[in-house]
Amino acid sequence: MLYCELAETYQKLEATTLKLRKASILAEFLQKTPLEELDKVCYLALGRVFPGWSEMELGIASLLMVKTLSKTYGVNTRKVEEEWKKTGDLGDVAEKLTKSKNQSLLFKKHLSLAKVFDNLQKLPTLEGSGSQEKKMMLISELLSQASPLEAKYICRTVTGNLRIGVAEGILRDAIVEAFFVAVFSKAELLQKADGKKTYEVLFESEGKRFVIEESAAKFFEEIKDTDAKNLFSKFIEKNKVRAVSKKDAEAIAKKEYFWKKHTDLDADYLVFEETELVNQIREKIVSRVDEALEVSNDFGLVAKKASEEGEKGLSSINLEVGHPIKVMLAQKSTGIDDAFETVGTPCAVEYKYDGFRMQIHKKGEEVLIFTRRLENVTRQFPEIAEAVKKGIKADSCIIEGEAVGYDFKAKKYLAFQQISRRIKRKYDIQETAKEIPIVLNLFDVIYLNGINIIKTAFMDRWKALESILKEIPGRMVLAKQLLTASKEAVERFYKESLEAGNEGIMFKNISAPYKPGSRVGYMLKLKPTMESLDLTIVGGEWGEGKRAAWISSFILACMDRDTGEYKEIGRIGTGIKEKAEEGVSFGELTEILKKHIIKEEGRSITVEPTIVVEIAYEEIQKSPTYSSGYALRFPRLLQLRTDRSVEDIDDIARVEDLYKKQRMRSDIKANA
Ligand code: AMP
Repeated sequence: MLYCELAETYQKLEATTLKLRKASILAEFLQKTPLEELDKVCYLALGRVFPGWSEMELGIASLLMVKTLSKTYGVNTRKVEEEWKKTGDLGDVAEKLTKSKNQSLLFKKHLSLAKVFDNLQKLPTLEGSGSQEKKMMLISELLSQASPLEAKYICRTVTGNLRIGVAEGILRDAIVEAFFVAVFSKAELLQKADGKKTYEVLFESEGKRFVIEESAAKFFEEIKDTDAKNLFSKFIEKNKVRAVSKKDAEAIAKKEYFWKKHTDLDADYLVFEETELVNQIREKIVSRVDEALEVSNDFGLVAKKASEEGEKGLSSINLEVGHPIKVMLAQKSTGIDDAFETVGTPCAVEYKYDGFRMQIHKKGEEVLIFTRRLENVTRQFPEIAEAVKKGIKADSCIIEGEAVGYDFKAKKYLAFQQISRRIKRKYDIQETAKEIPIVLNLFDVIYLNGINIIKTAFMDRWKALESILKEIPGRMVLAKQLLTASKEAVERFYKESLEAGNEGIMFKNISAPYKPGSRVGYMLKLKPTMESLDLTIVGGEWGEGKRAAWISSFILACMDRDTGEYKEIGRIGTGIKEKAEEGVSFGELTEILKKHIIKEEGRSITVEPTIVVEIAYEEIQKSPTYSSGYALRFPRLLQLRTDRSVEDIDDIARVEDLYKKQRMRSDIKANA
């Protein structure tokens, strides 16, 4: 497959903001991708060249890219930087420079997708002296053979800024659409969400196989929009349509297989009268794909299996020791009653330790430790690896816990900032380990002796954990837990946890499965502070007067989970200190952000989103000023979350949710 085919698809994806349309464009491309390249296309669609479980990241610094462009096209770096400042996108610069290159040198050879992929995959593996030059050569080799459009997307991929508005949700939908039947209810088809366009999006190509319930077979006659009606009736005529009875429709909904290539079903589209049946089928397909993604953390593998064997292939995908999966996330609760209601009672209540999460994989004598960002930190924590080898009685397992720094003399927990020093540490590991001792508080097991137990109820997983753990006091212990339905008991436990120096408590639904990567309400946290938001910084302004050397105000953004785009939600200058000893300072933020400036206009700057900040505020308001549609009133910075990655920040859905809750609270107050 040629890389230009992917580049053209990127261009189509970039040209539309409709999520449904994006999924369809991508689905069509996945369908025509040869099986052996399907995984590569999936990674590249997300702007990556490795599966999700891999800690390898492209992330070539923009400045190195500037140098590479300068070398490849023979223009000086100042010129590249000037061009870059104009649009803030190095991809545009690469495109422009390729266009102006001597035409005779162009397109001697077409770039294959595999060549681009291979060169990009080599980049993060290069380390040490001379590695910068080697990286530049690998990128340059691609750029010198690339068309302007290809150069643009190669450059964007390399710098980790693809900007096609495709995140995991859309790729998931594209996989579903590409390899499984599409199901619709009659009502949905008649609803014509956005008129004729919907039909064009949904039913573009010919040669499709329809299975339609008899009573819905002539639904297009009821479409009010004449254009859409004509379009659709013609479309139906040209395709193979099989009408089935209500009974047959029900039997189909109960089936196990909805793979397009499954000959028993013989359908690309199913149209049924009843929404219930349609929902049943959709849920079945989506949850199969989701489950396979959750346990593998690998879109490439899932797409390959879905294409090759459908549901059967997906069911064969399992957890693998050494491939970290996304951790289950906690929702915030507003109080004990609220938490009881969500997780049900009796529930497990645990100390909420203020450290960082470890997902630990063990196979025989081999132990691997991952952070919640899936970075491998085994080398940095040799004493934990040792403790797991000694204290966990299982041939293979994946367990989770919170690692906290503990000062044994003062009998006090250490601040998170202290242990984050250990994560970053590359040398003198043994000494730092002595200086900053760590206690691991275990709270879950999701894989045990070759068996995936994520679907097992939490309490049974906890019991399994208890049974394999031989505690090593002061090093590796079970998290402190209380099984209760009593509010008073929880109040006492909460107080005790805070007095011991913890952040708060966690509530856990005892019969719930483990849901990787989701905030599904199986695990809730309660902390004394108000609900803060984790956001990123996308821009700001240089200060004036005595603050002229600093960036002094910062533009905050949350995420649109579907498209992966960052949406602005406010500006902040409060909570940031002038002196470094007092906390997060203007100087520190300026130092970090300076390297990621992509555009400057007067005092205003645009930066690549790279850091996560925890923000407190008084209120969320609707606002046309910011692209999220919301603004924060009196935002202030609480802390820099170096343990979080930008993909983890809060999304618009959560902002909307908090906004609604806040409205509800003020309504209650007003009516009281
Ligand atoms: P938050 O980081 O505020 O979203 O809270 C969730 C985090 O609390 C988890 O990701 C863990 O790192 C941490 N944590 C601390 N103690 C526990 C516990 N007993 N059970 C689960 N998570 C815990």
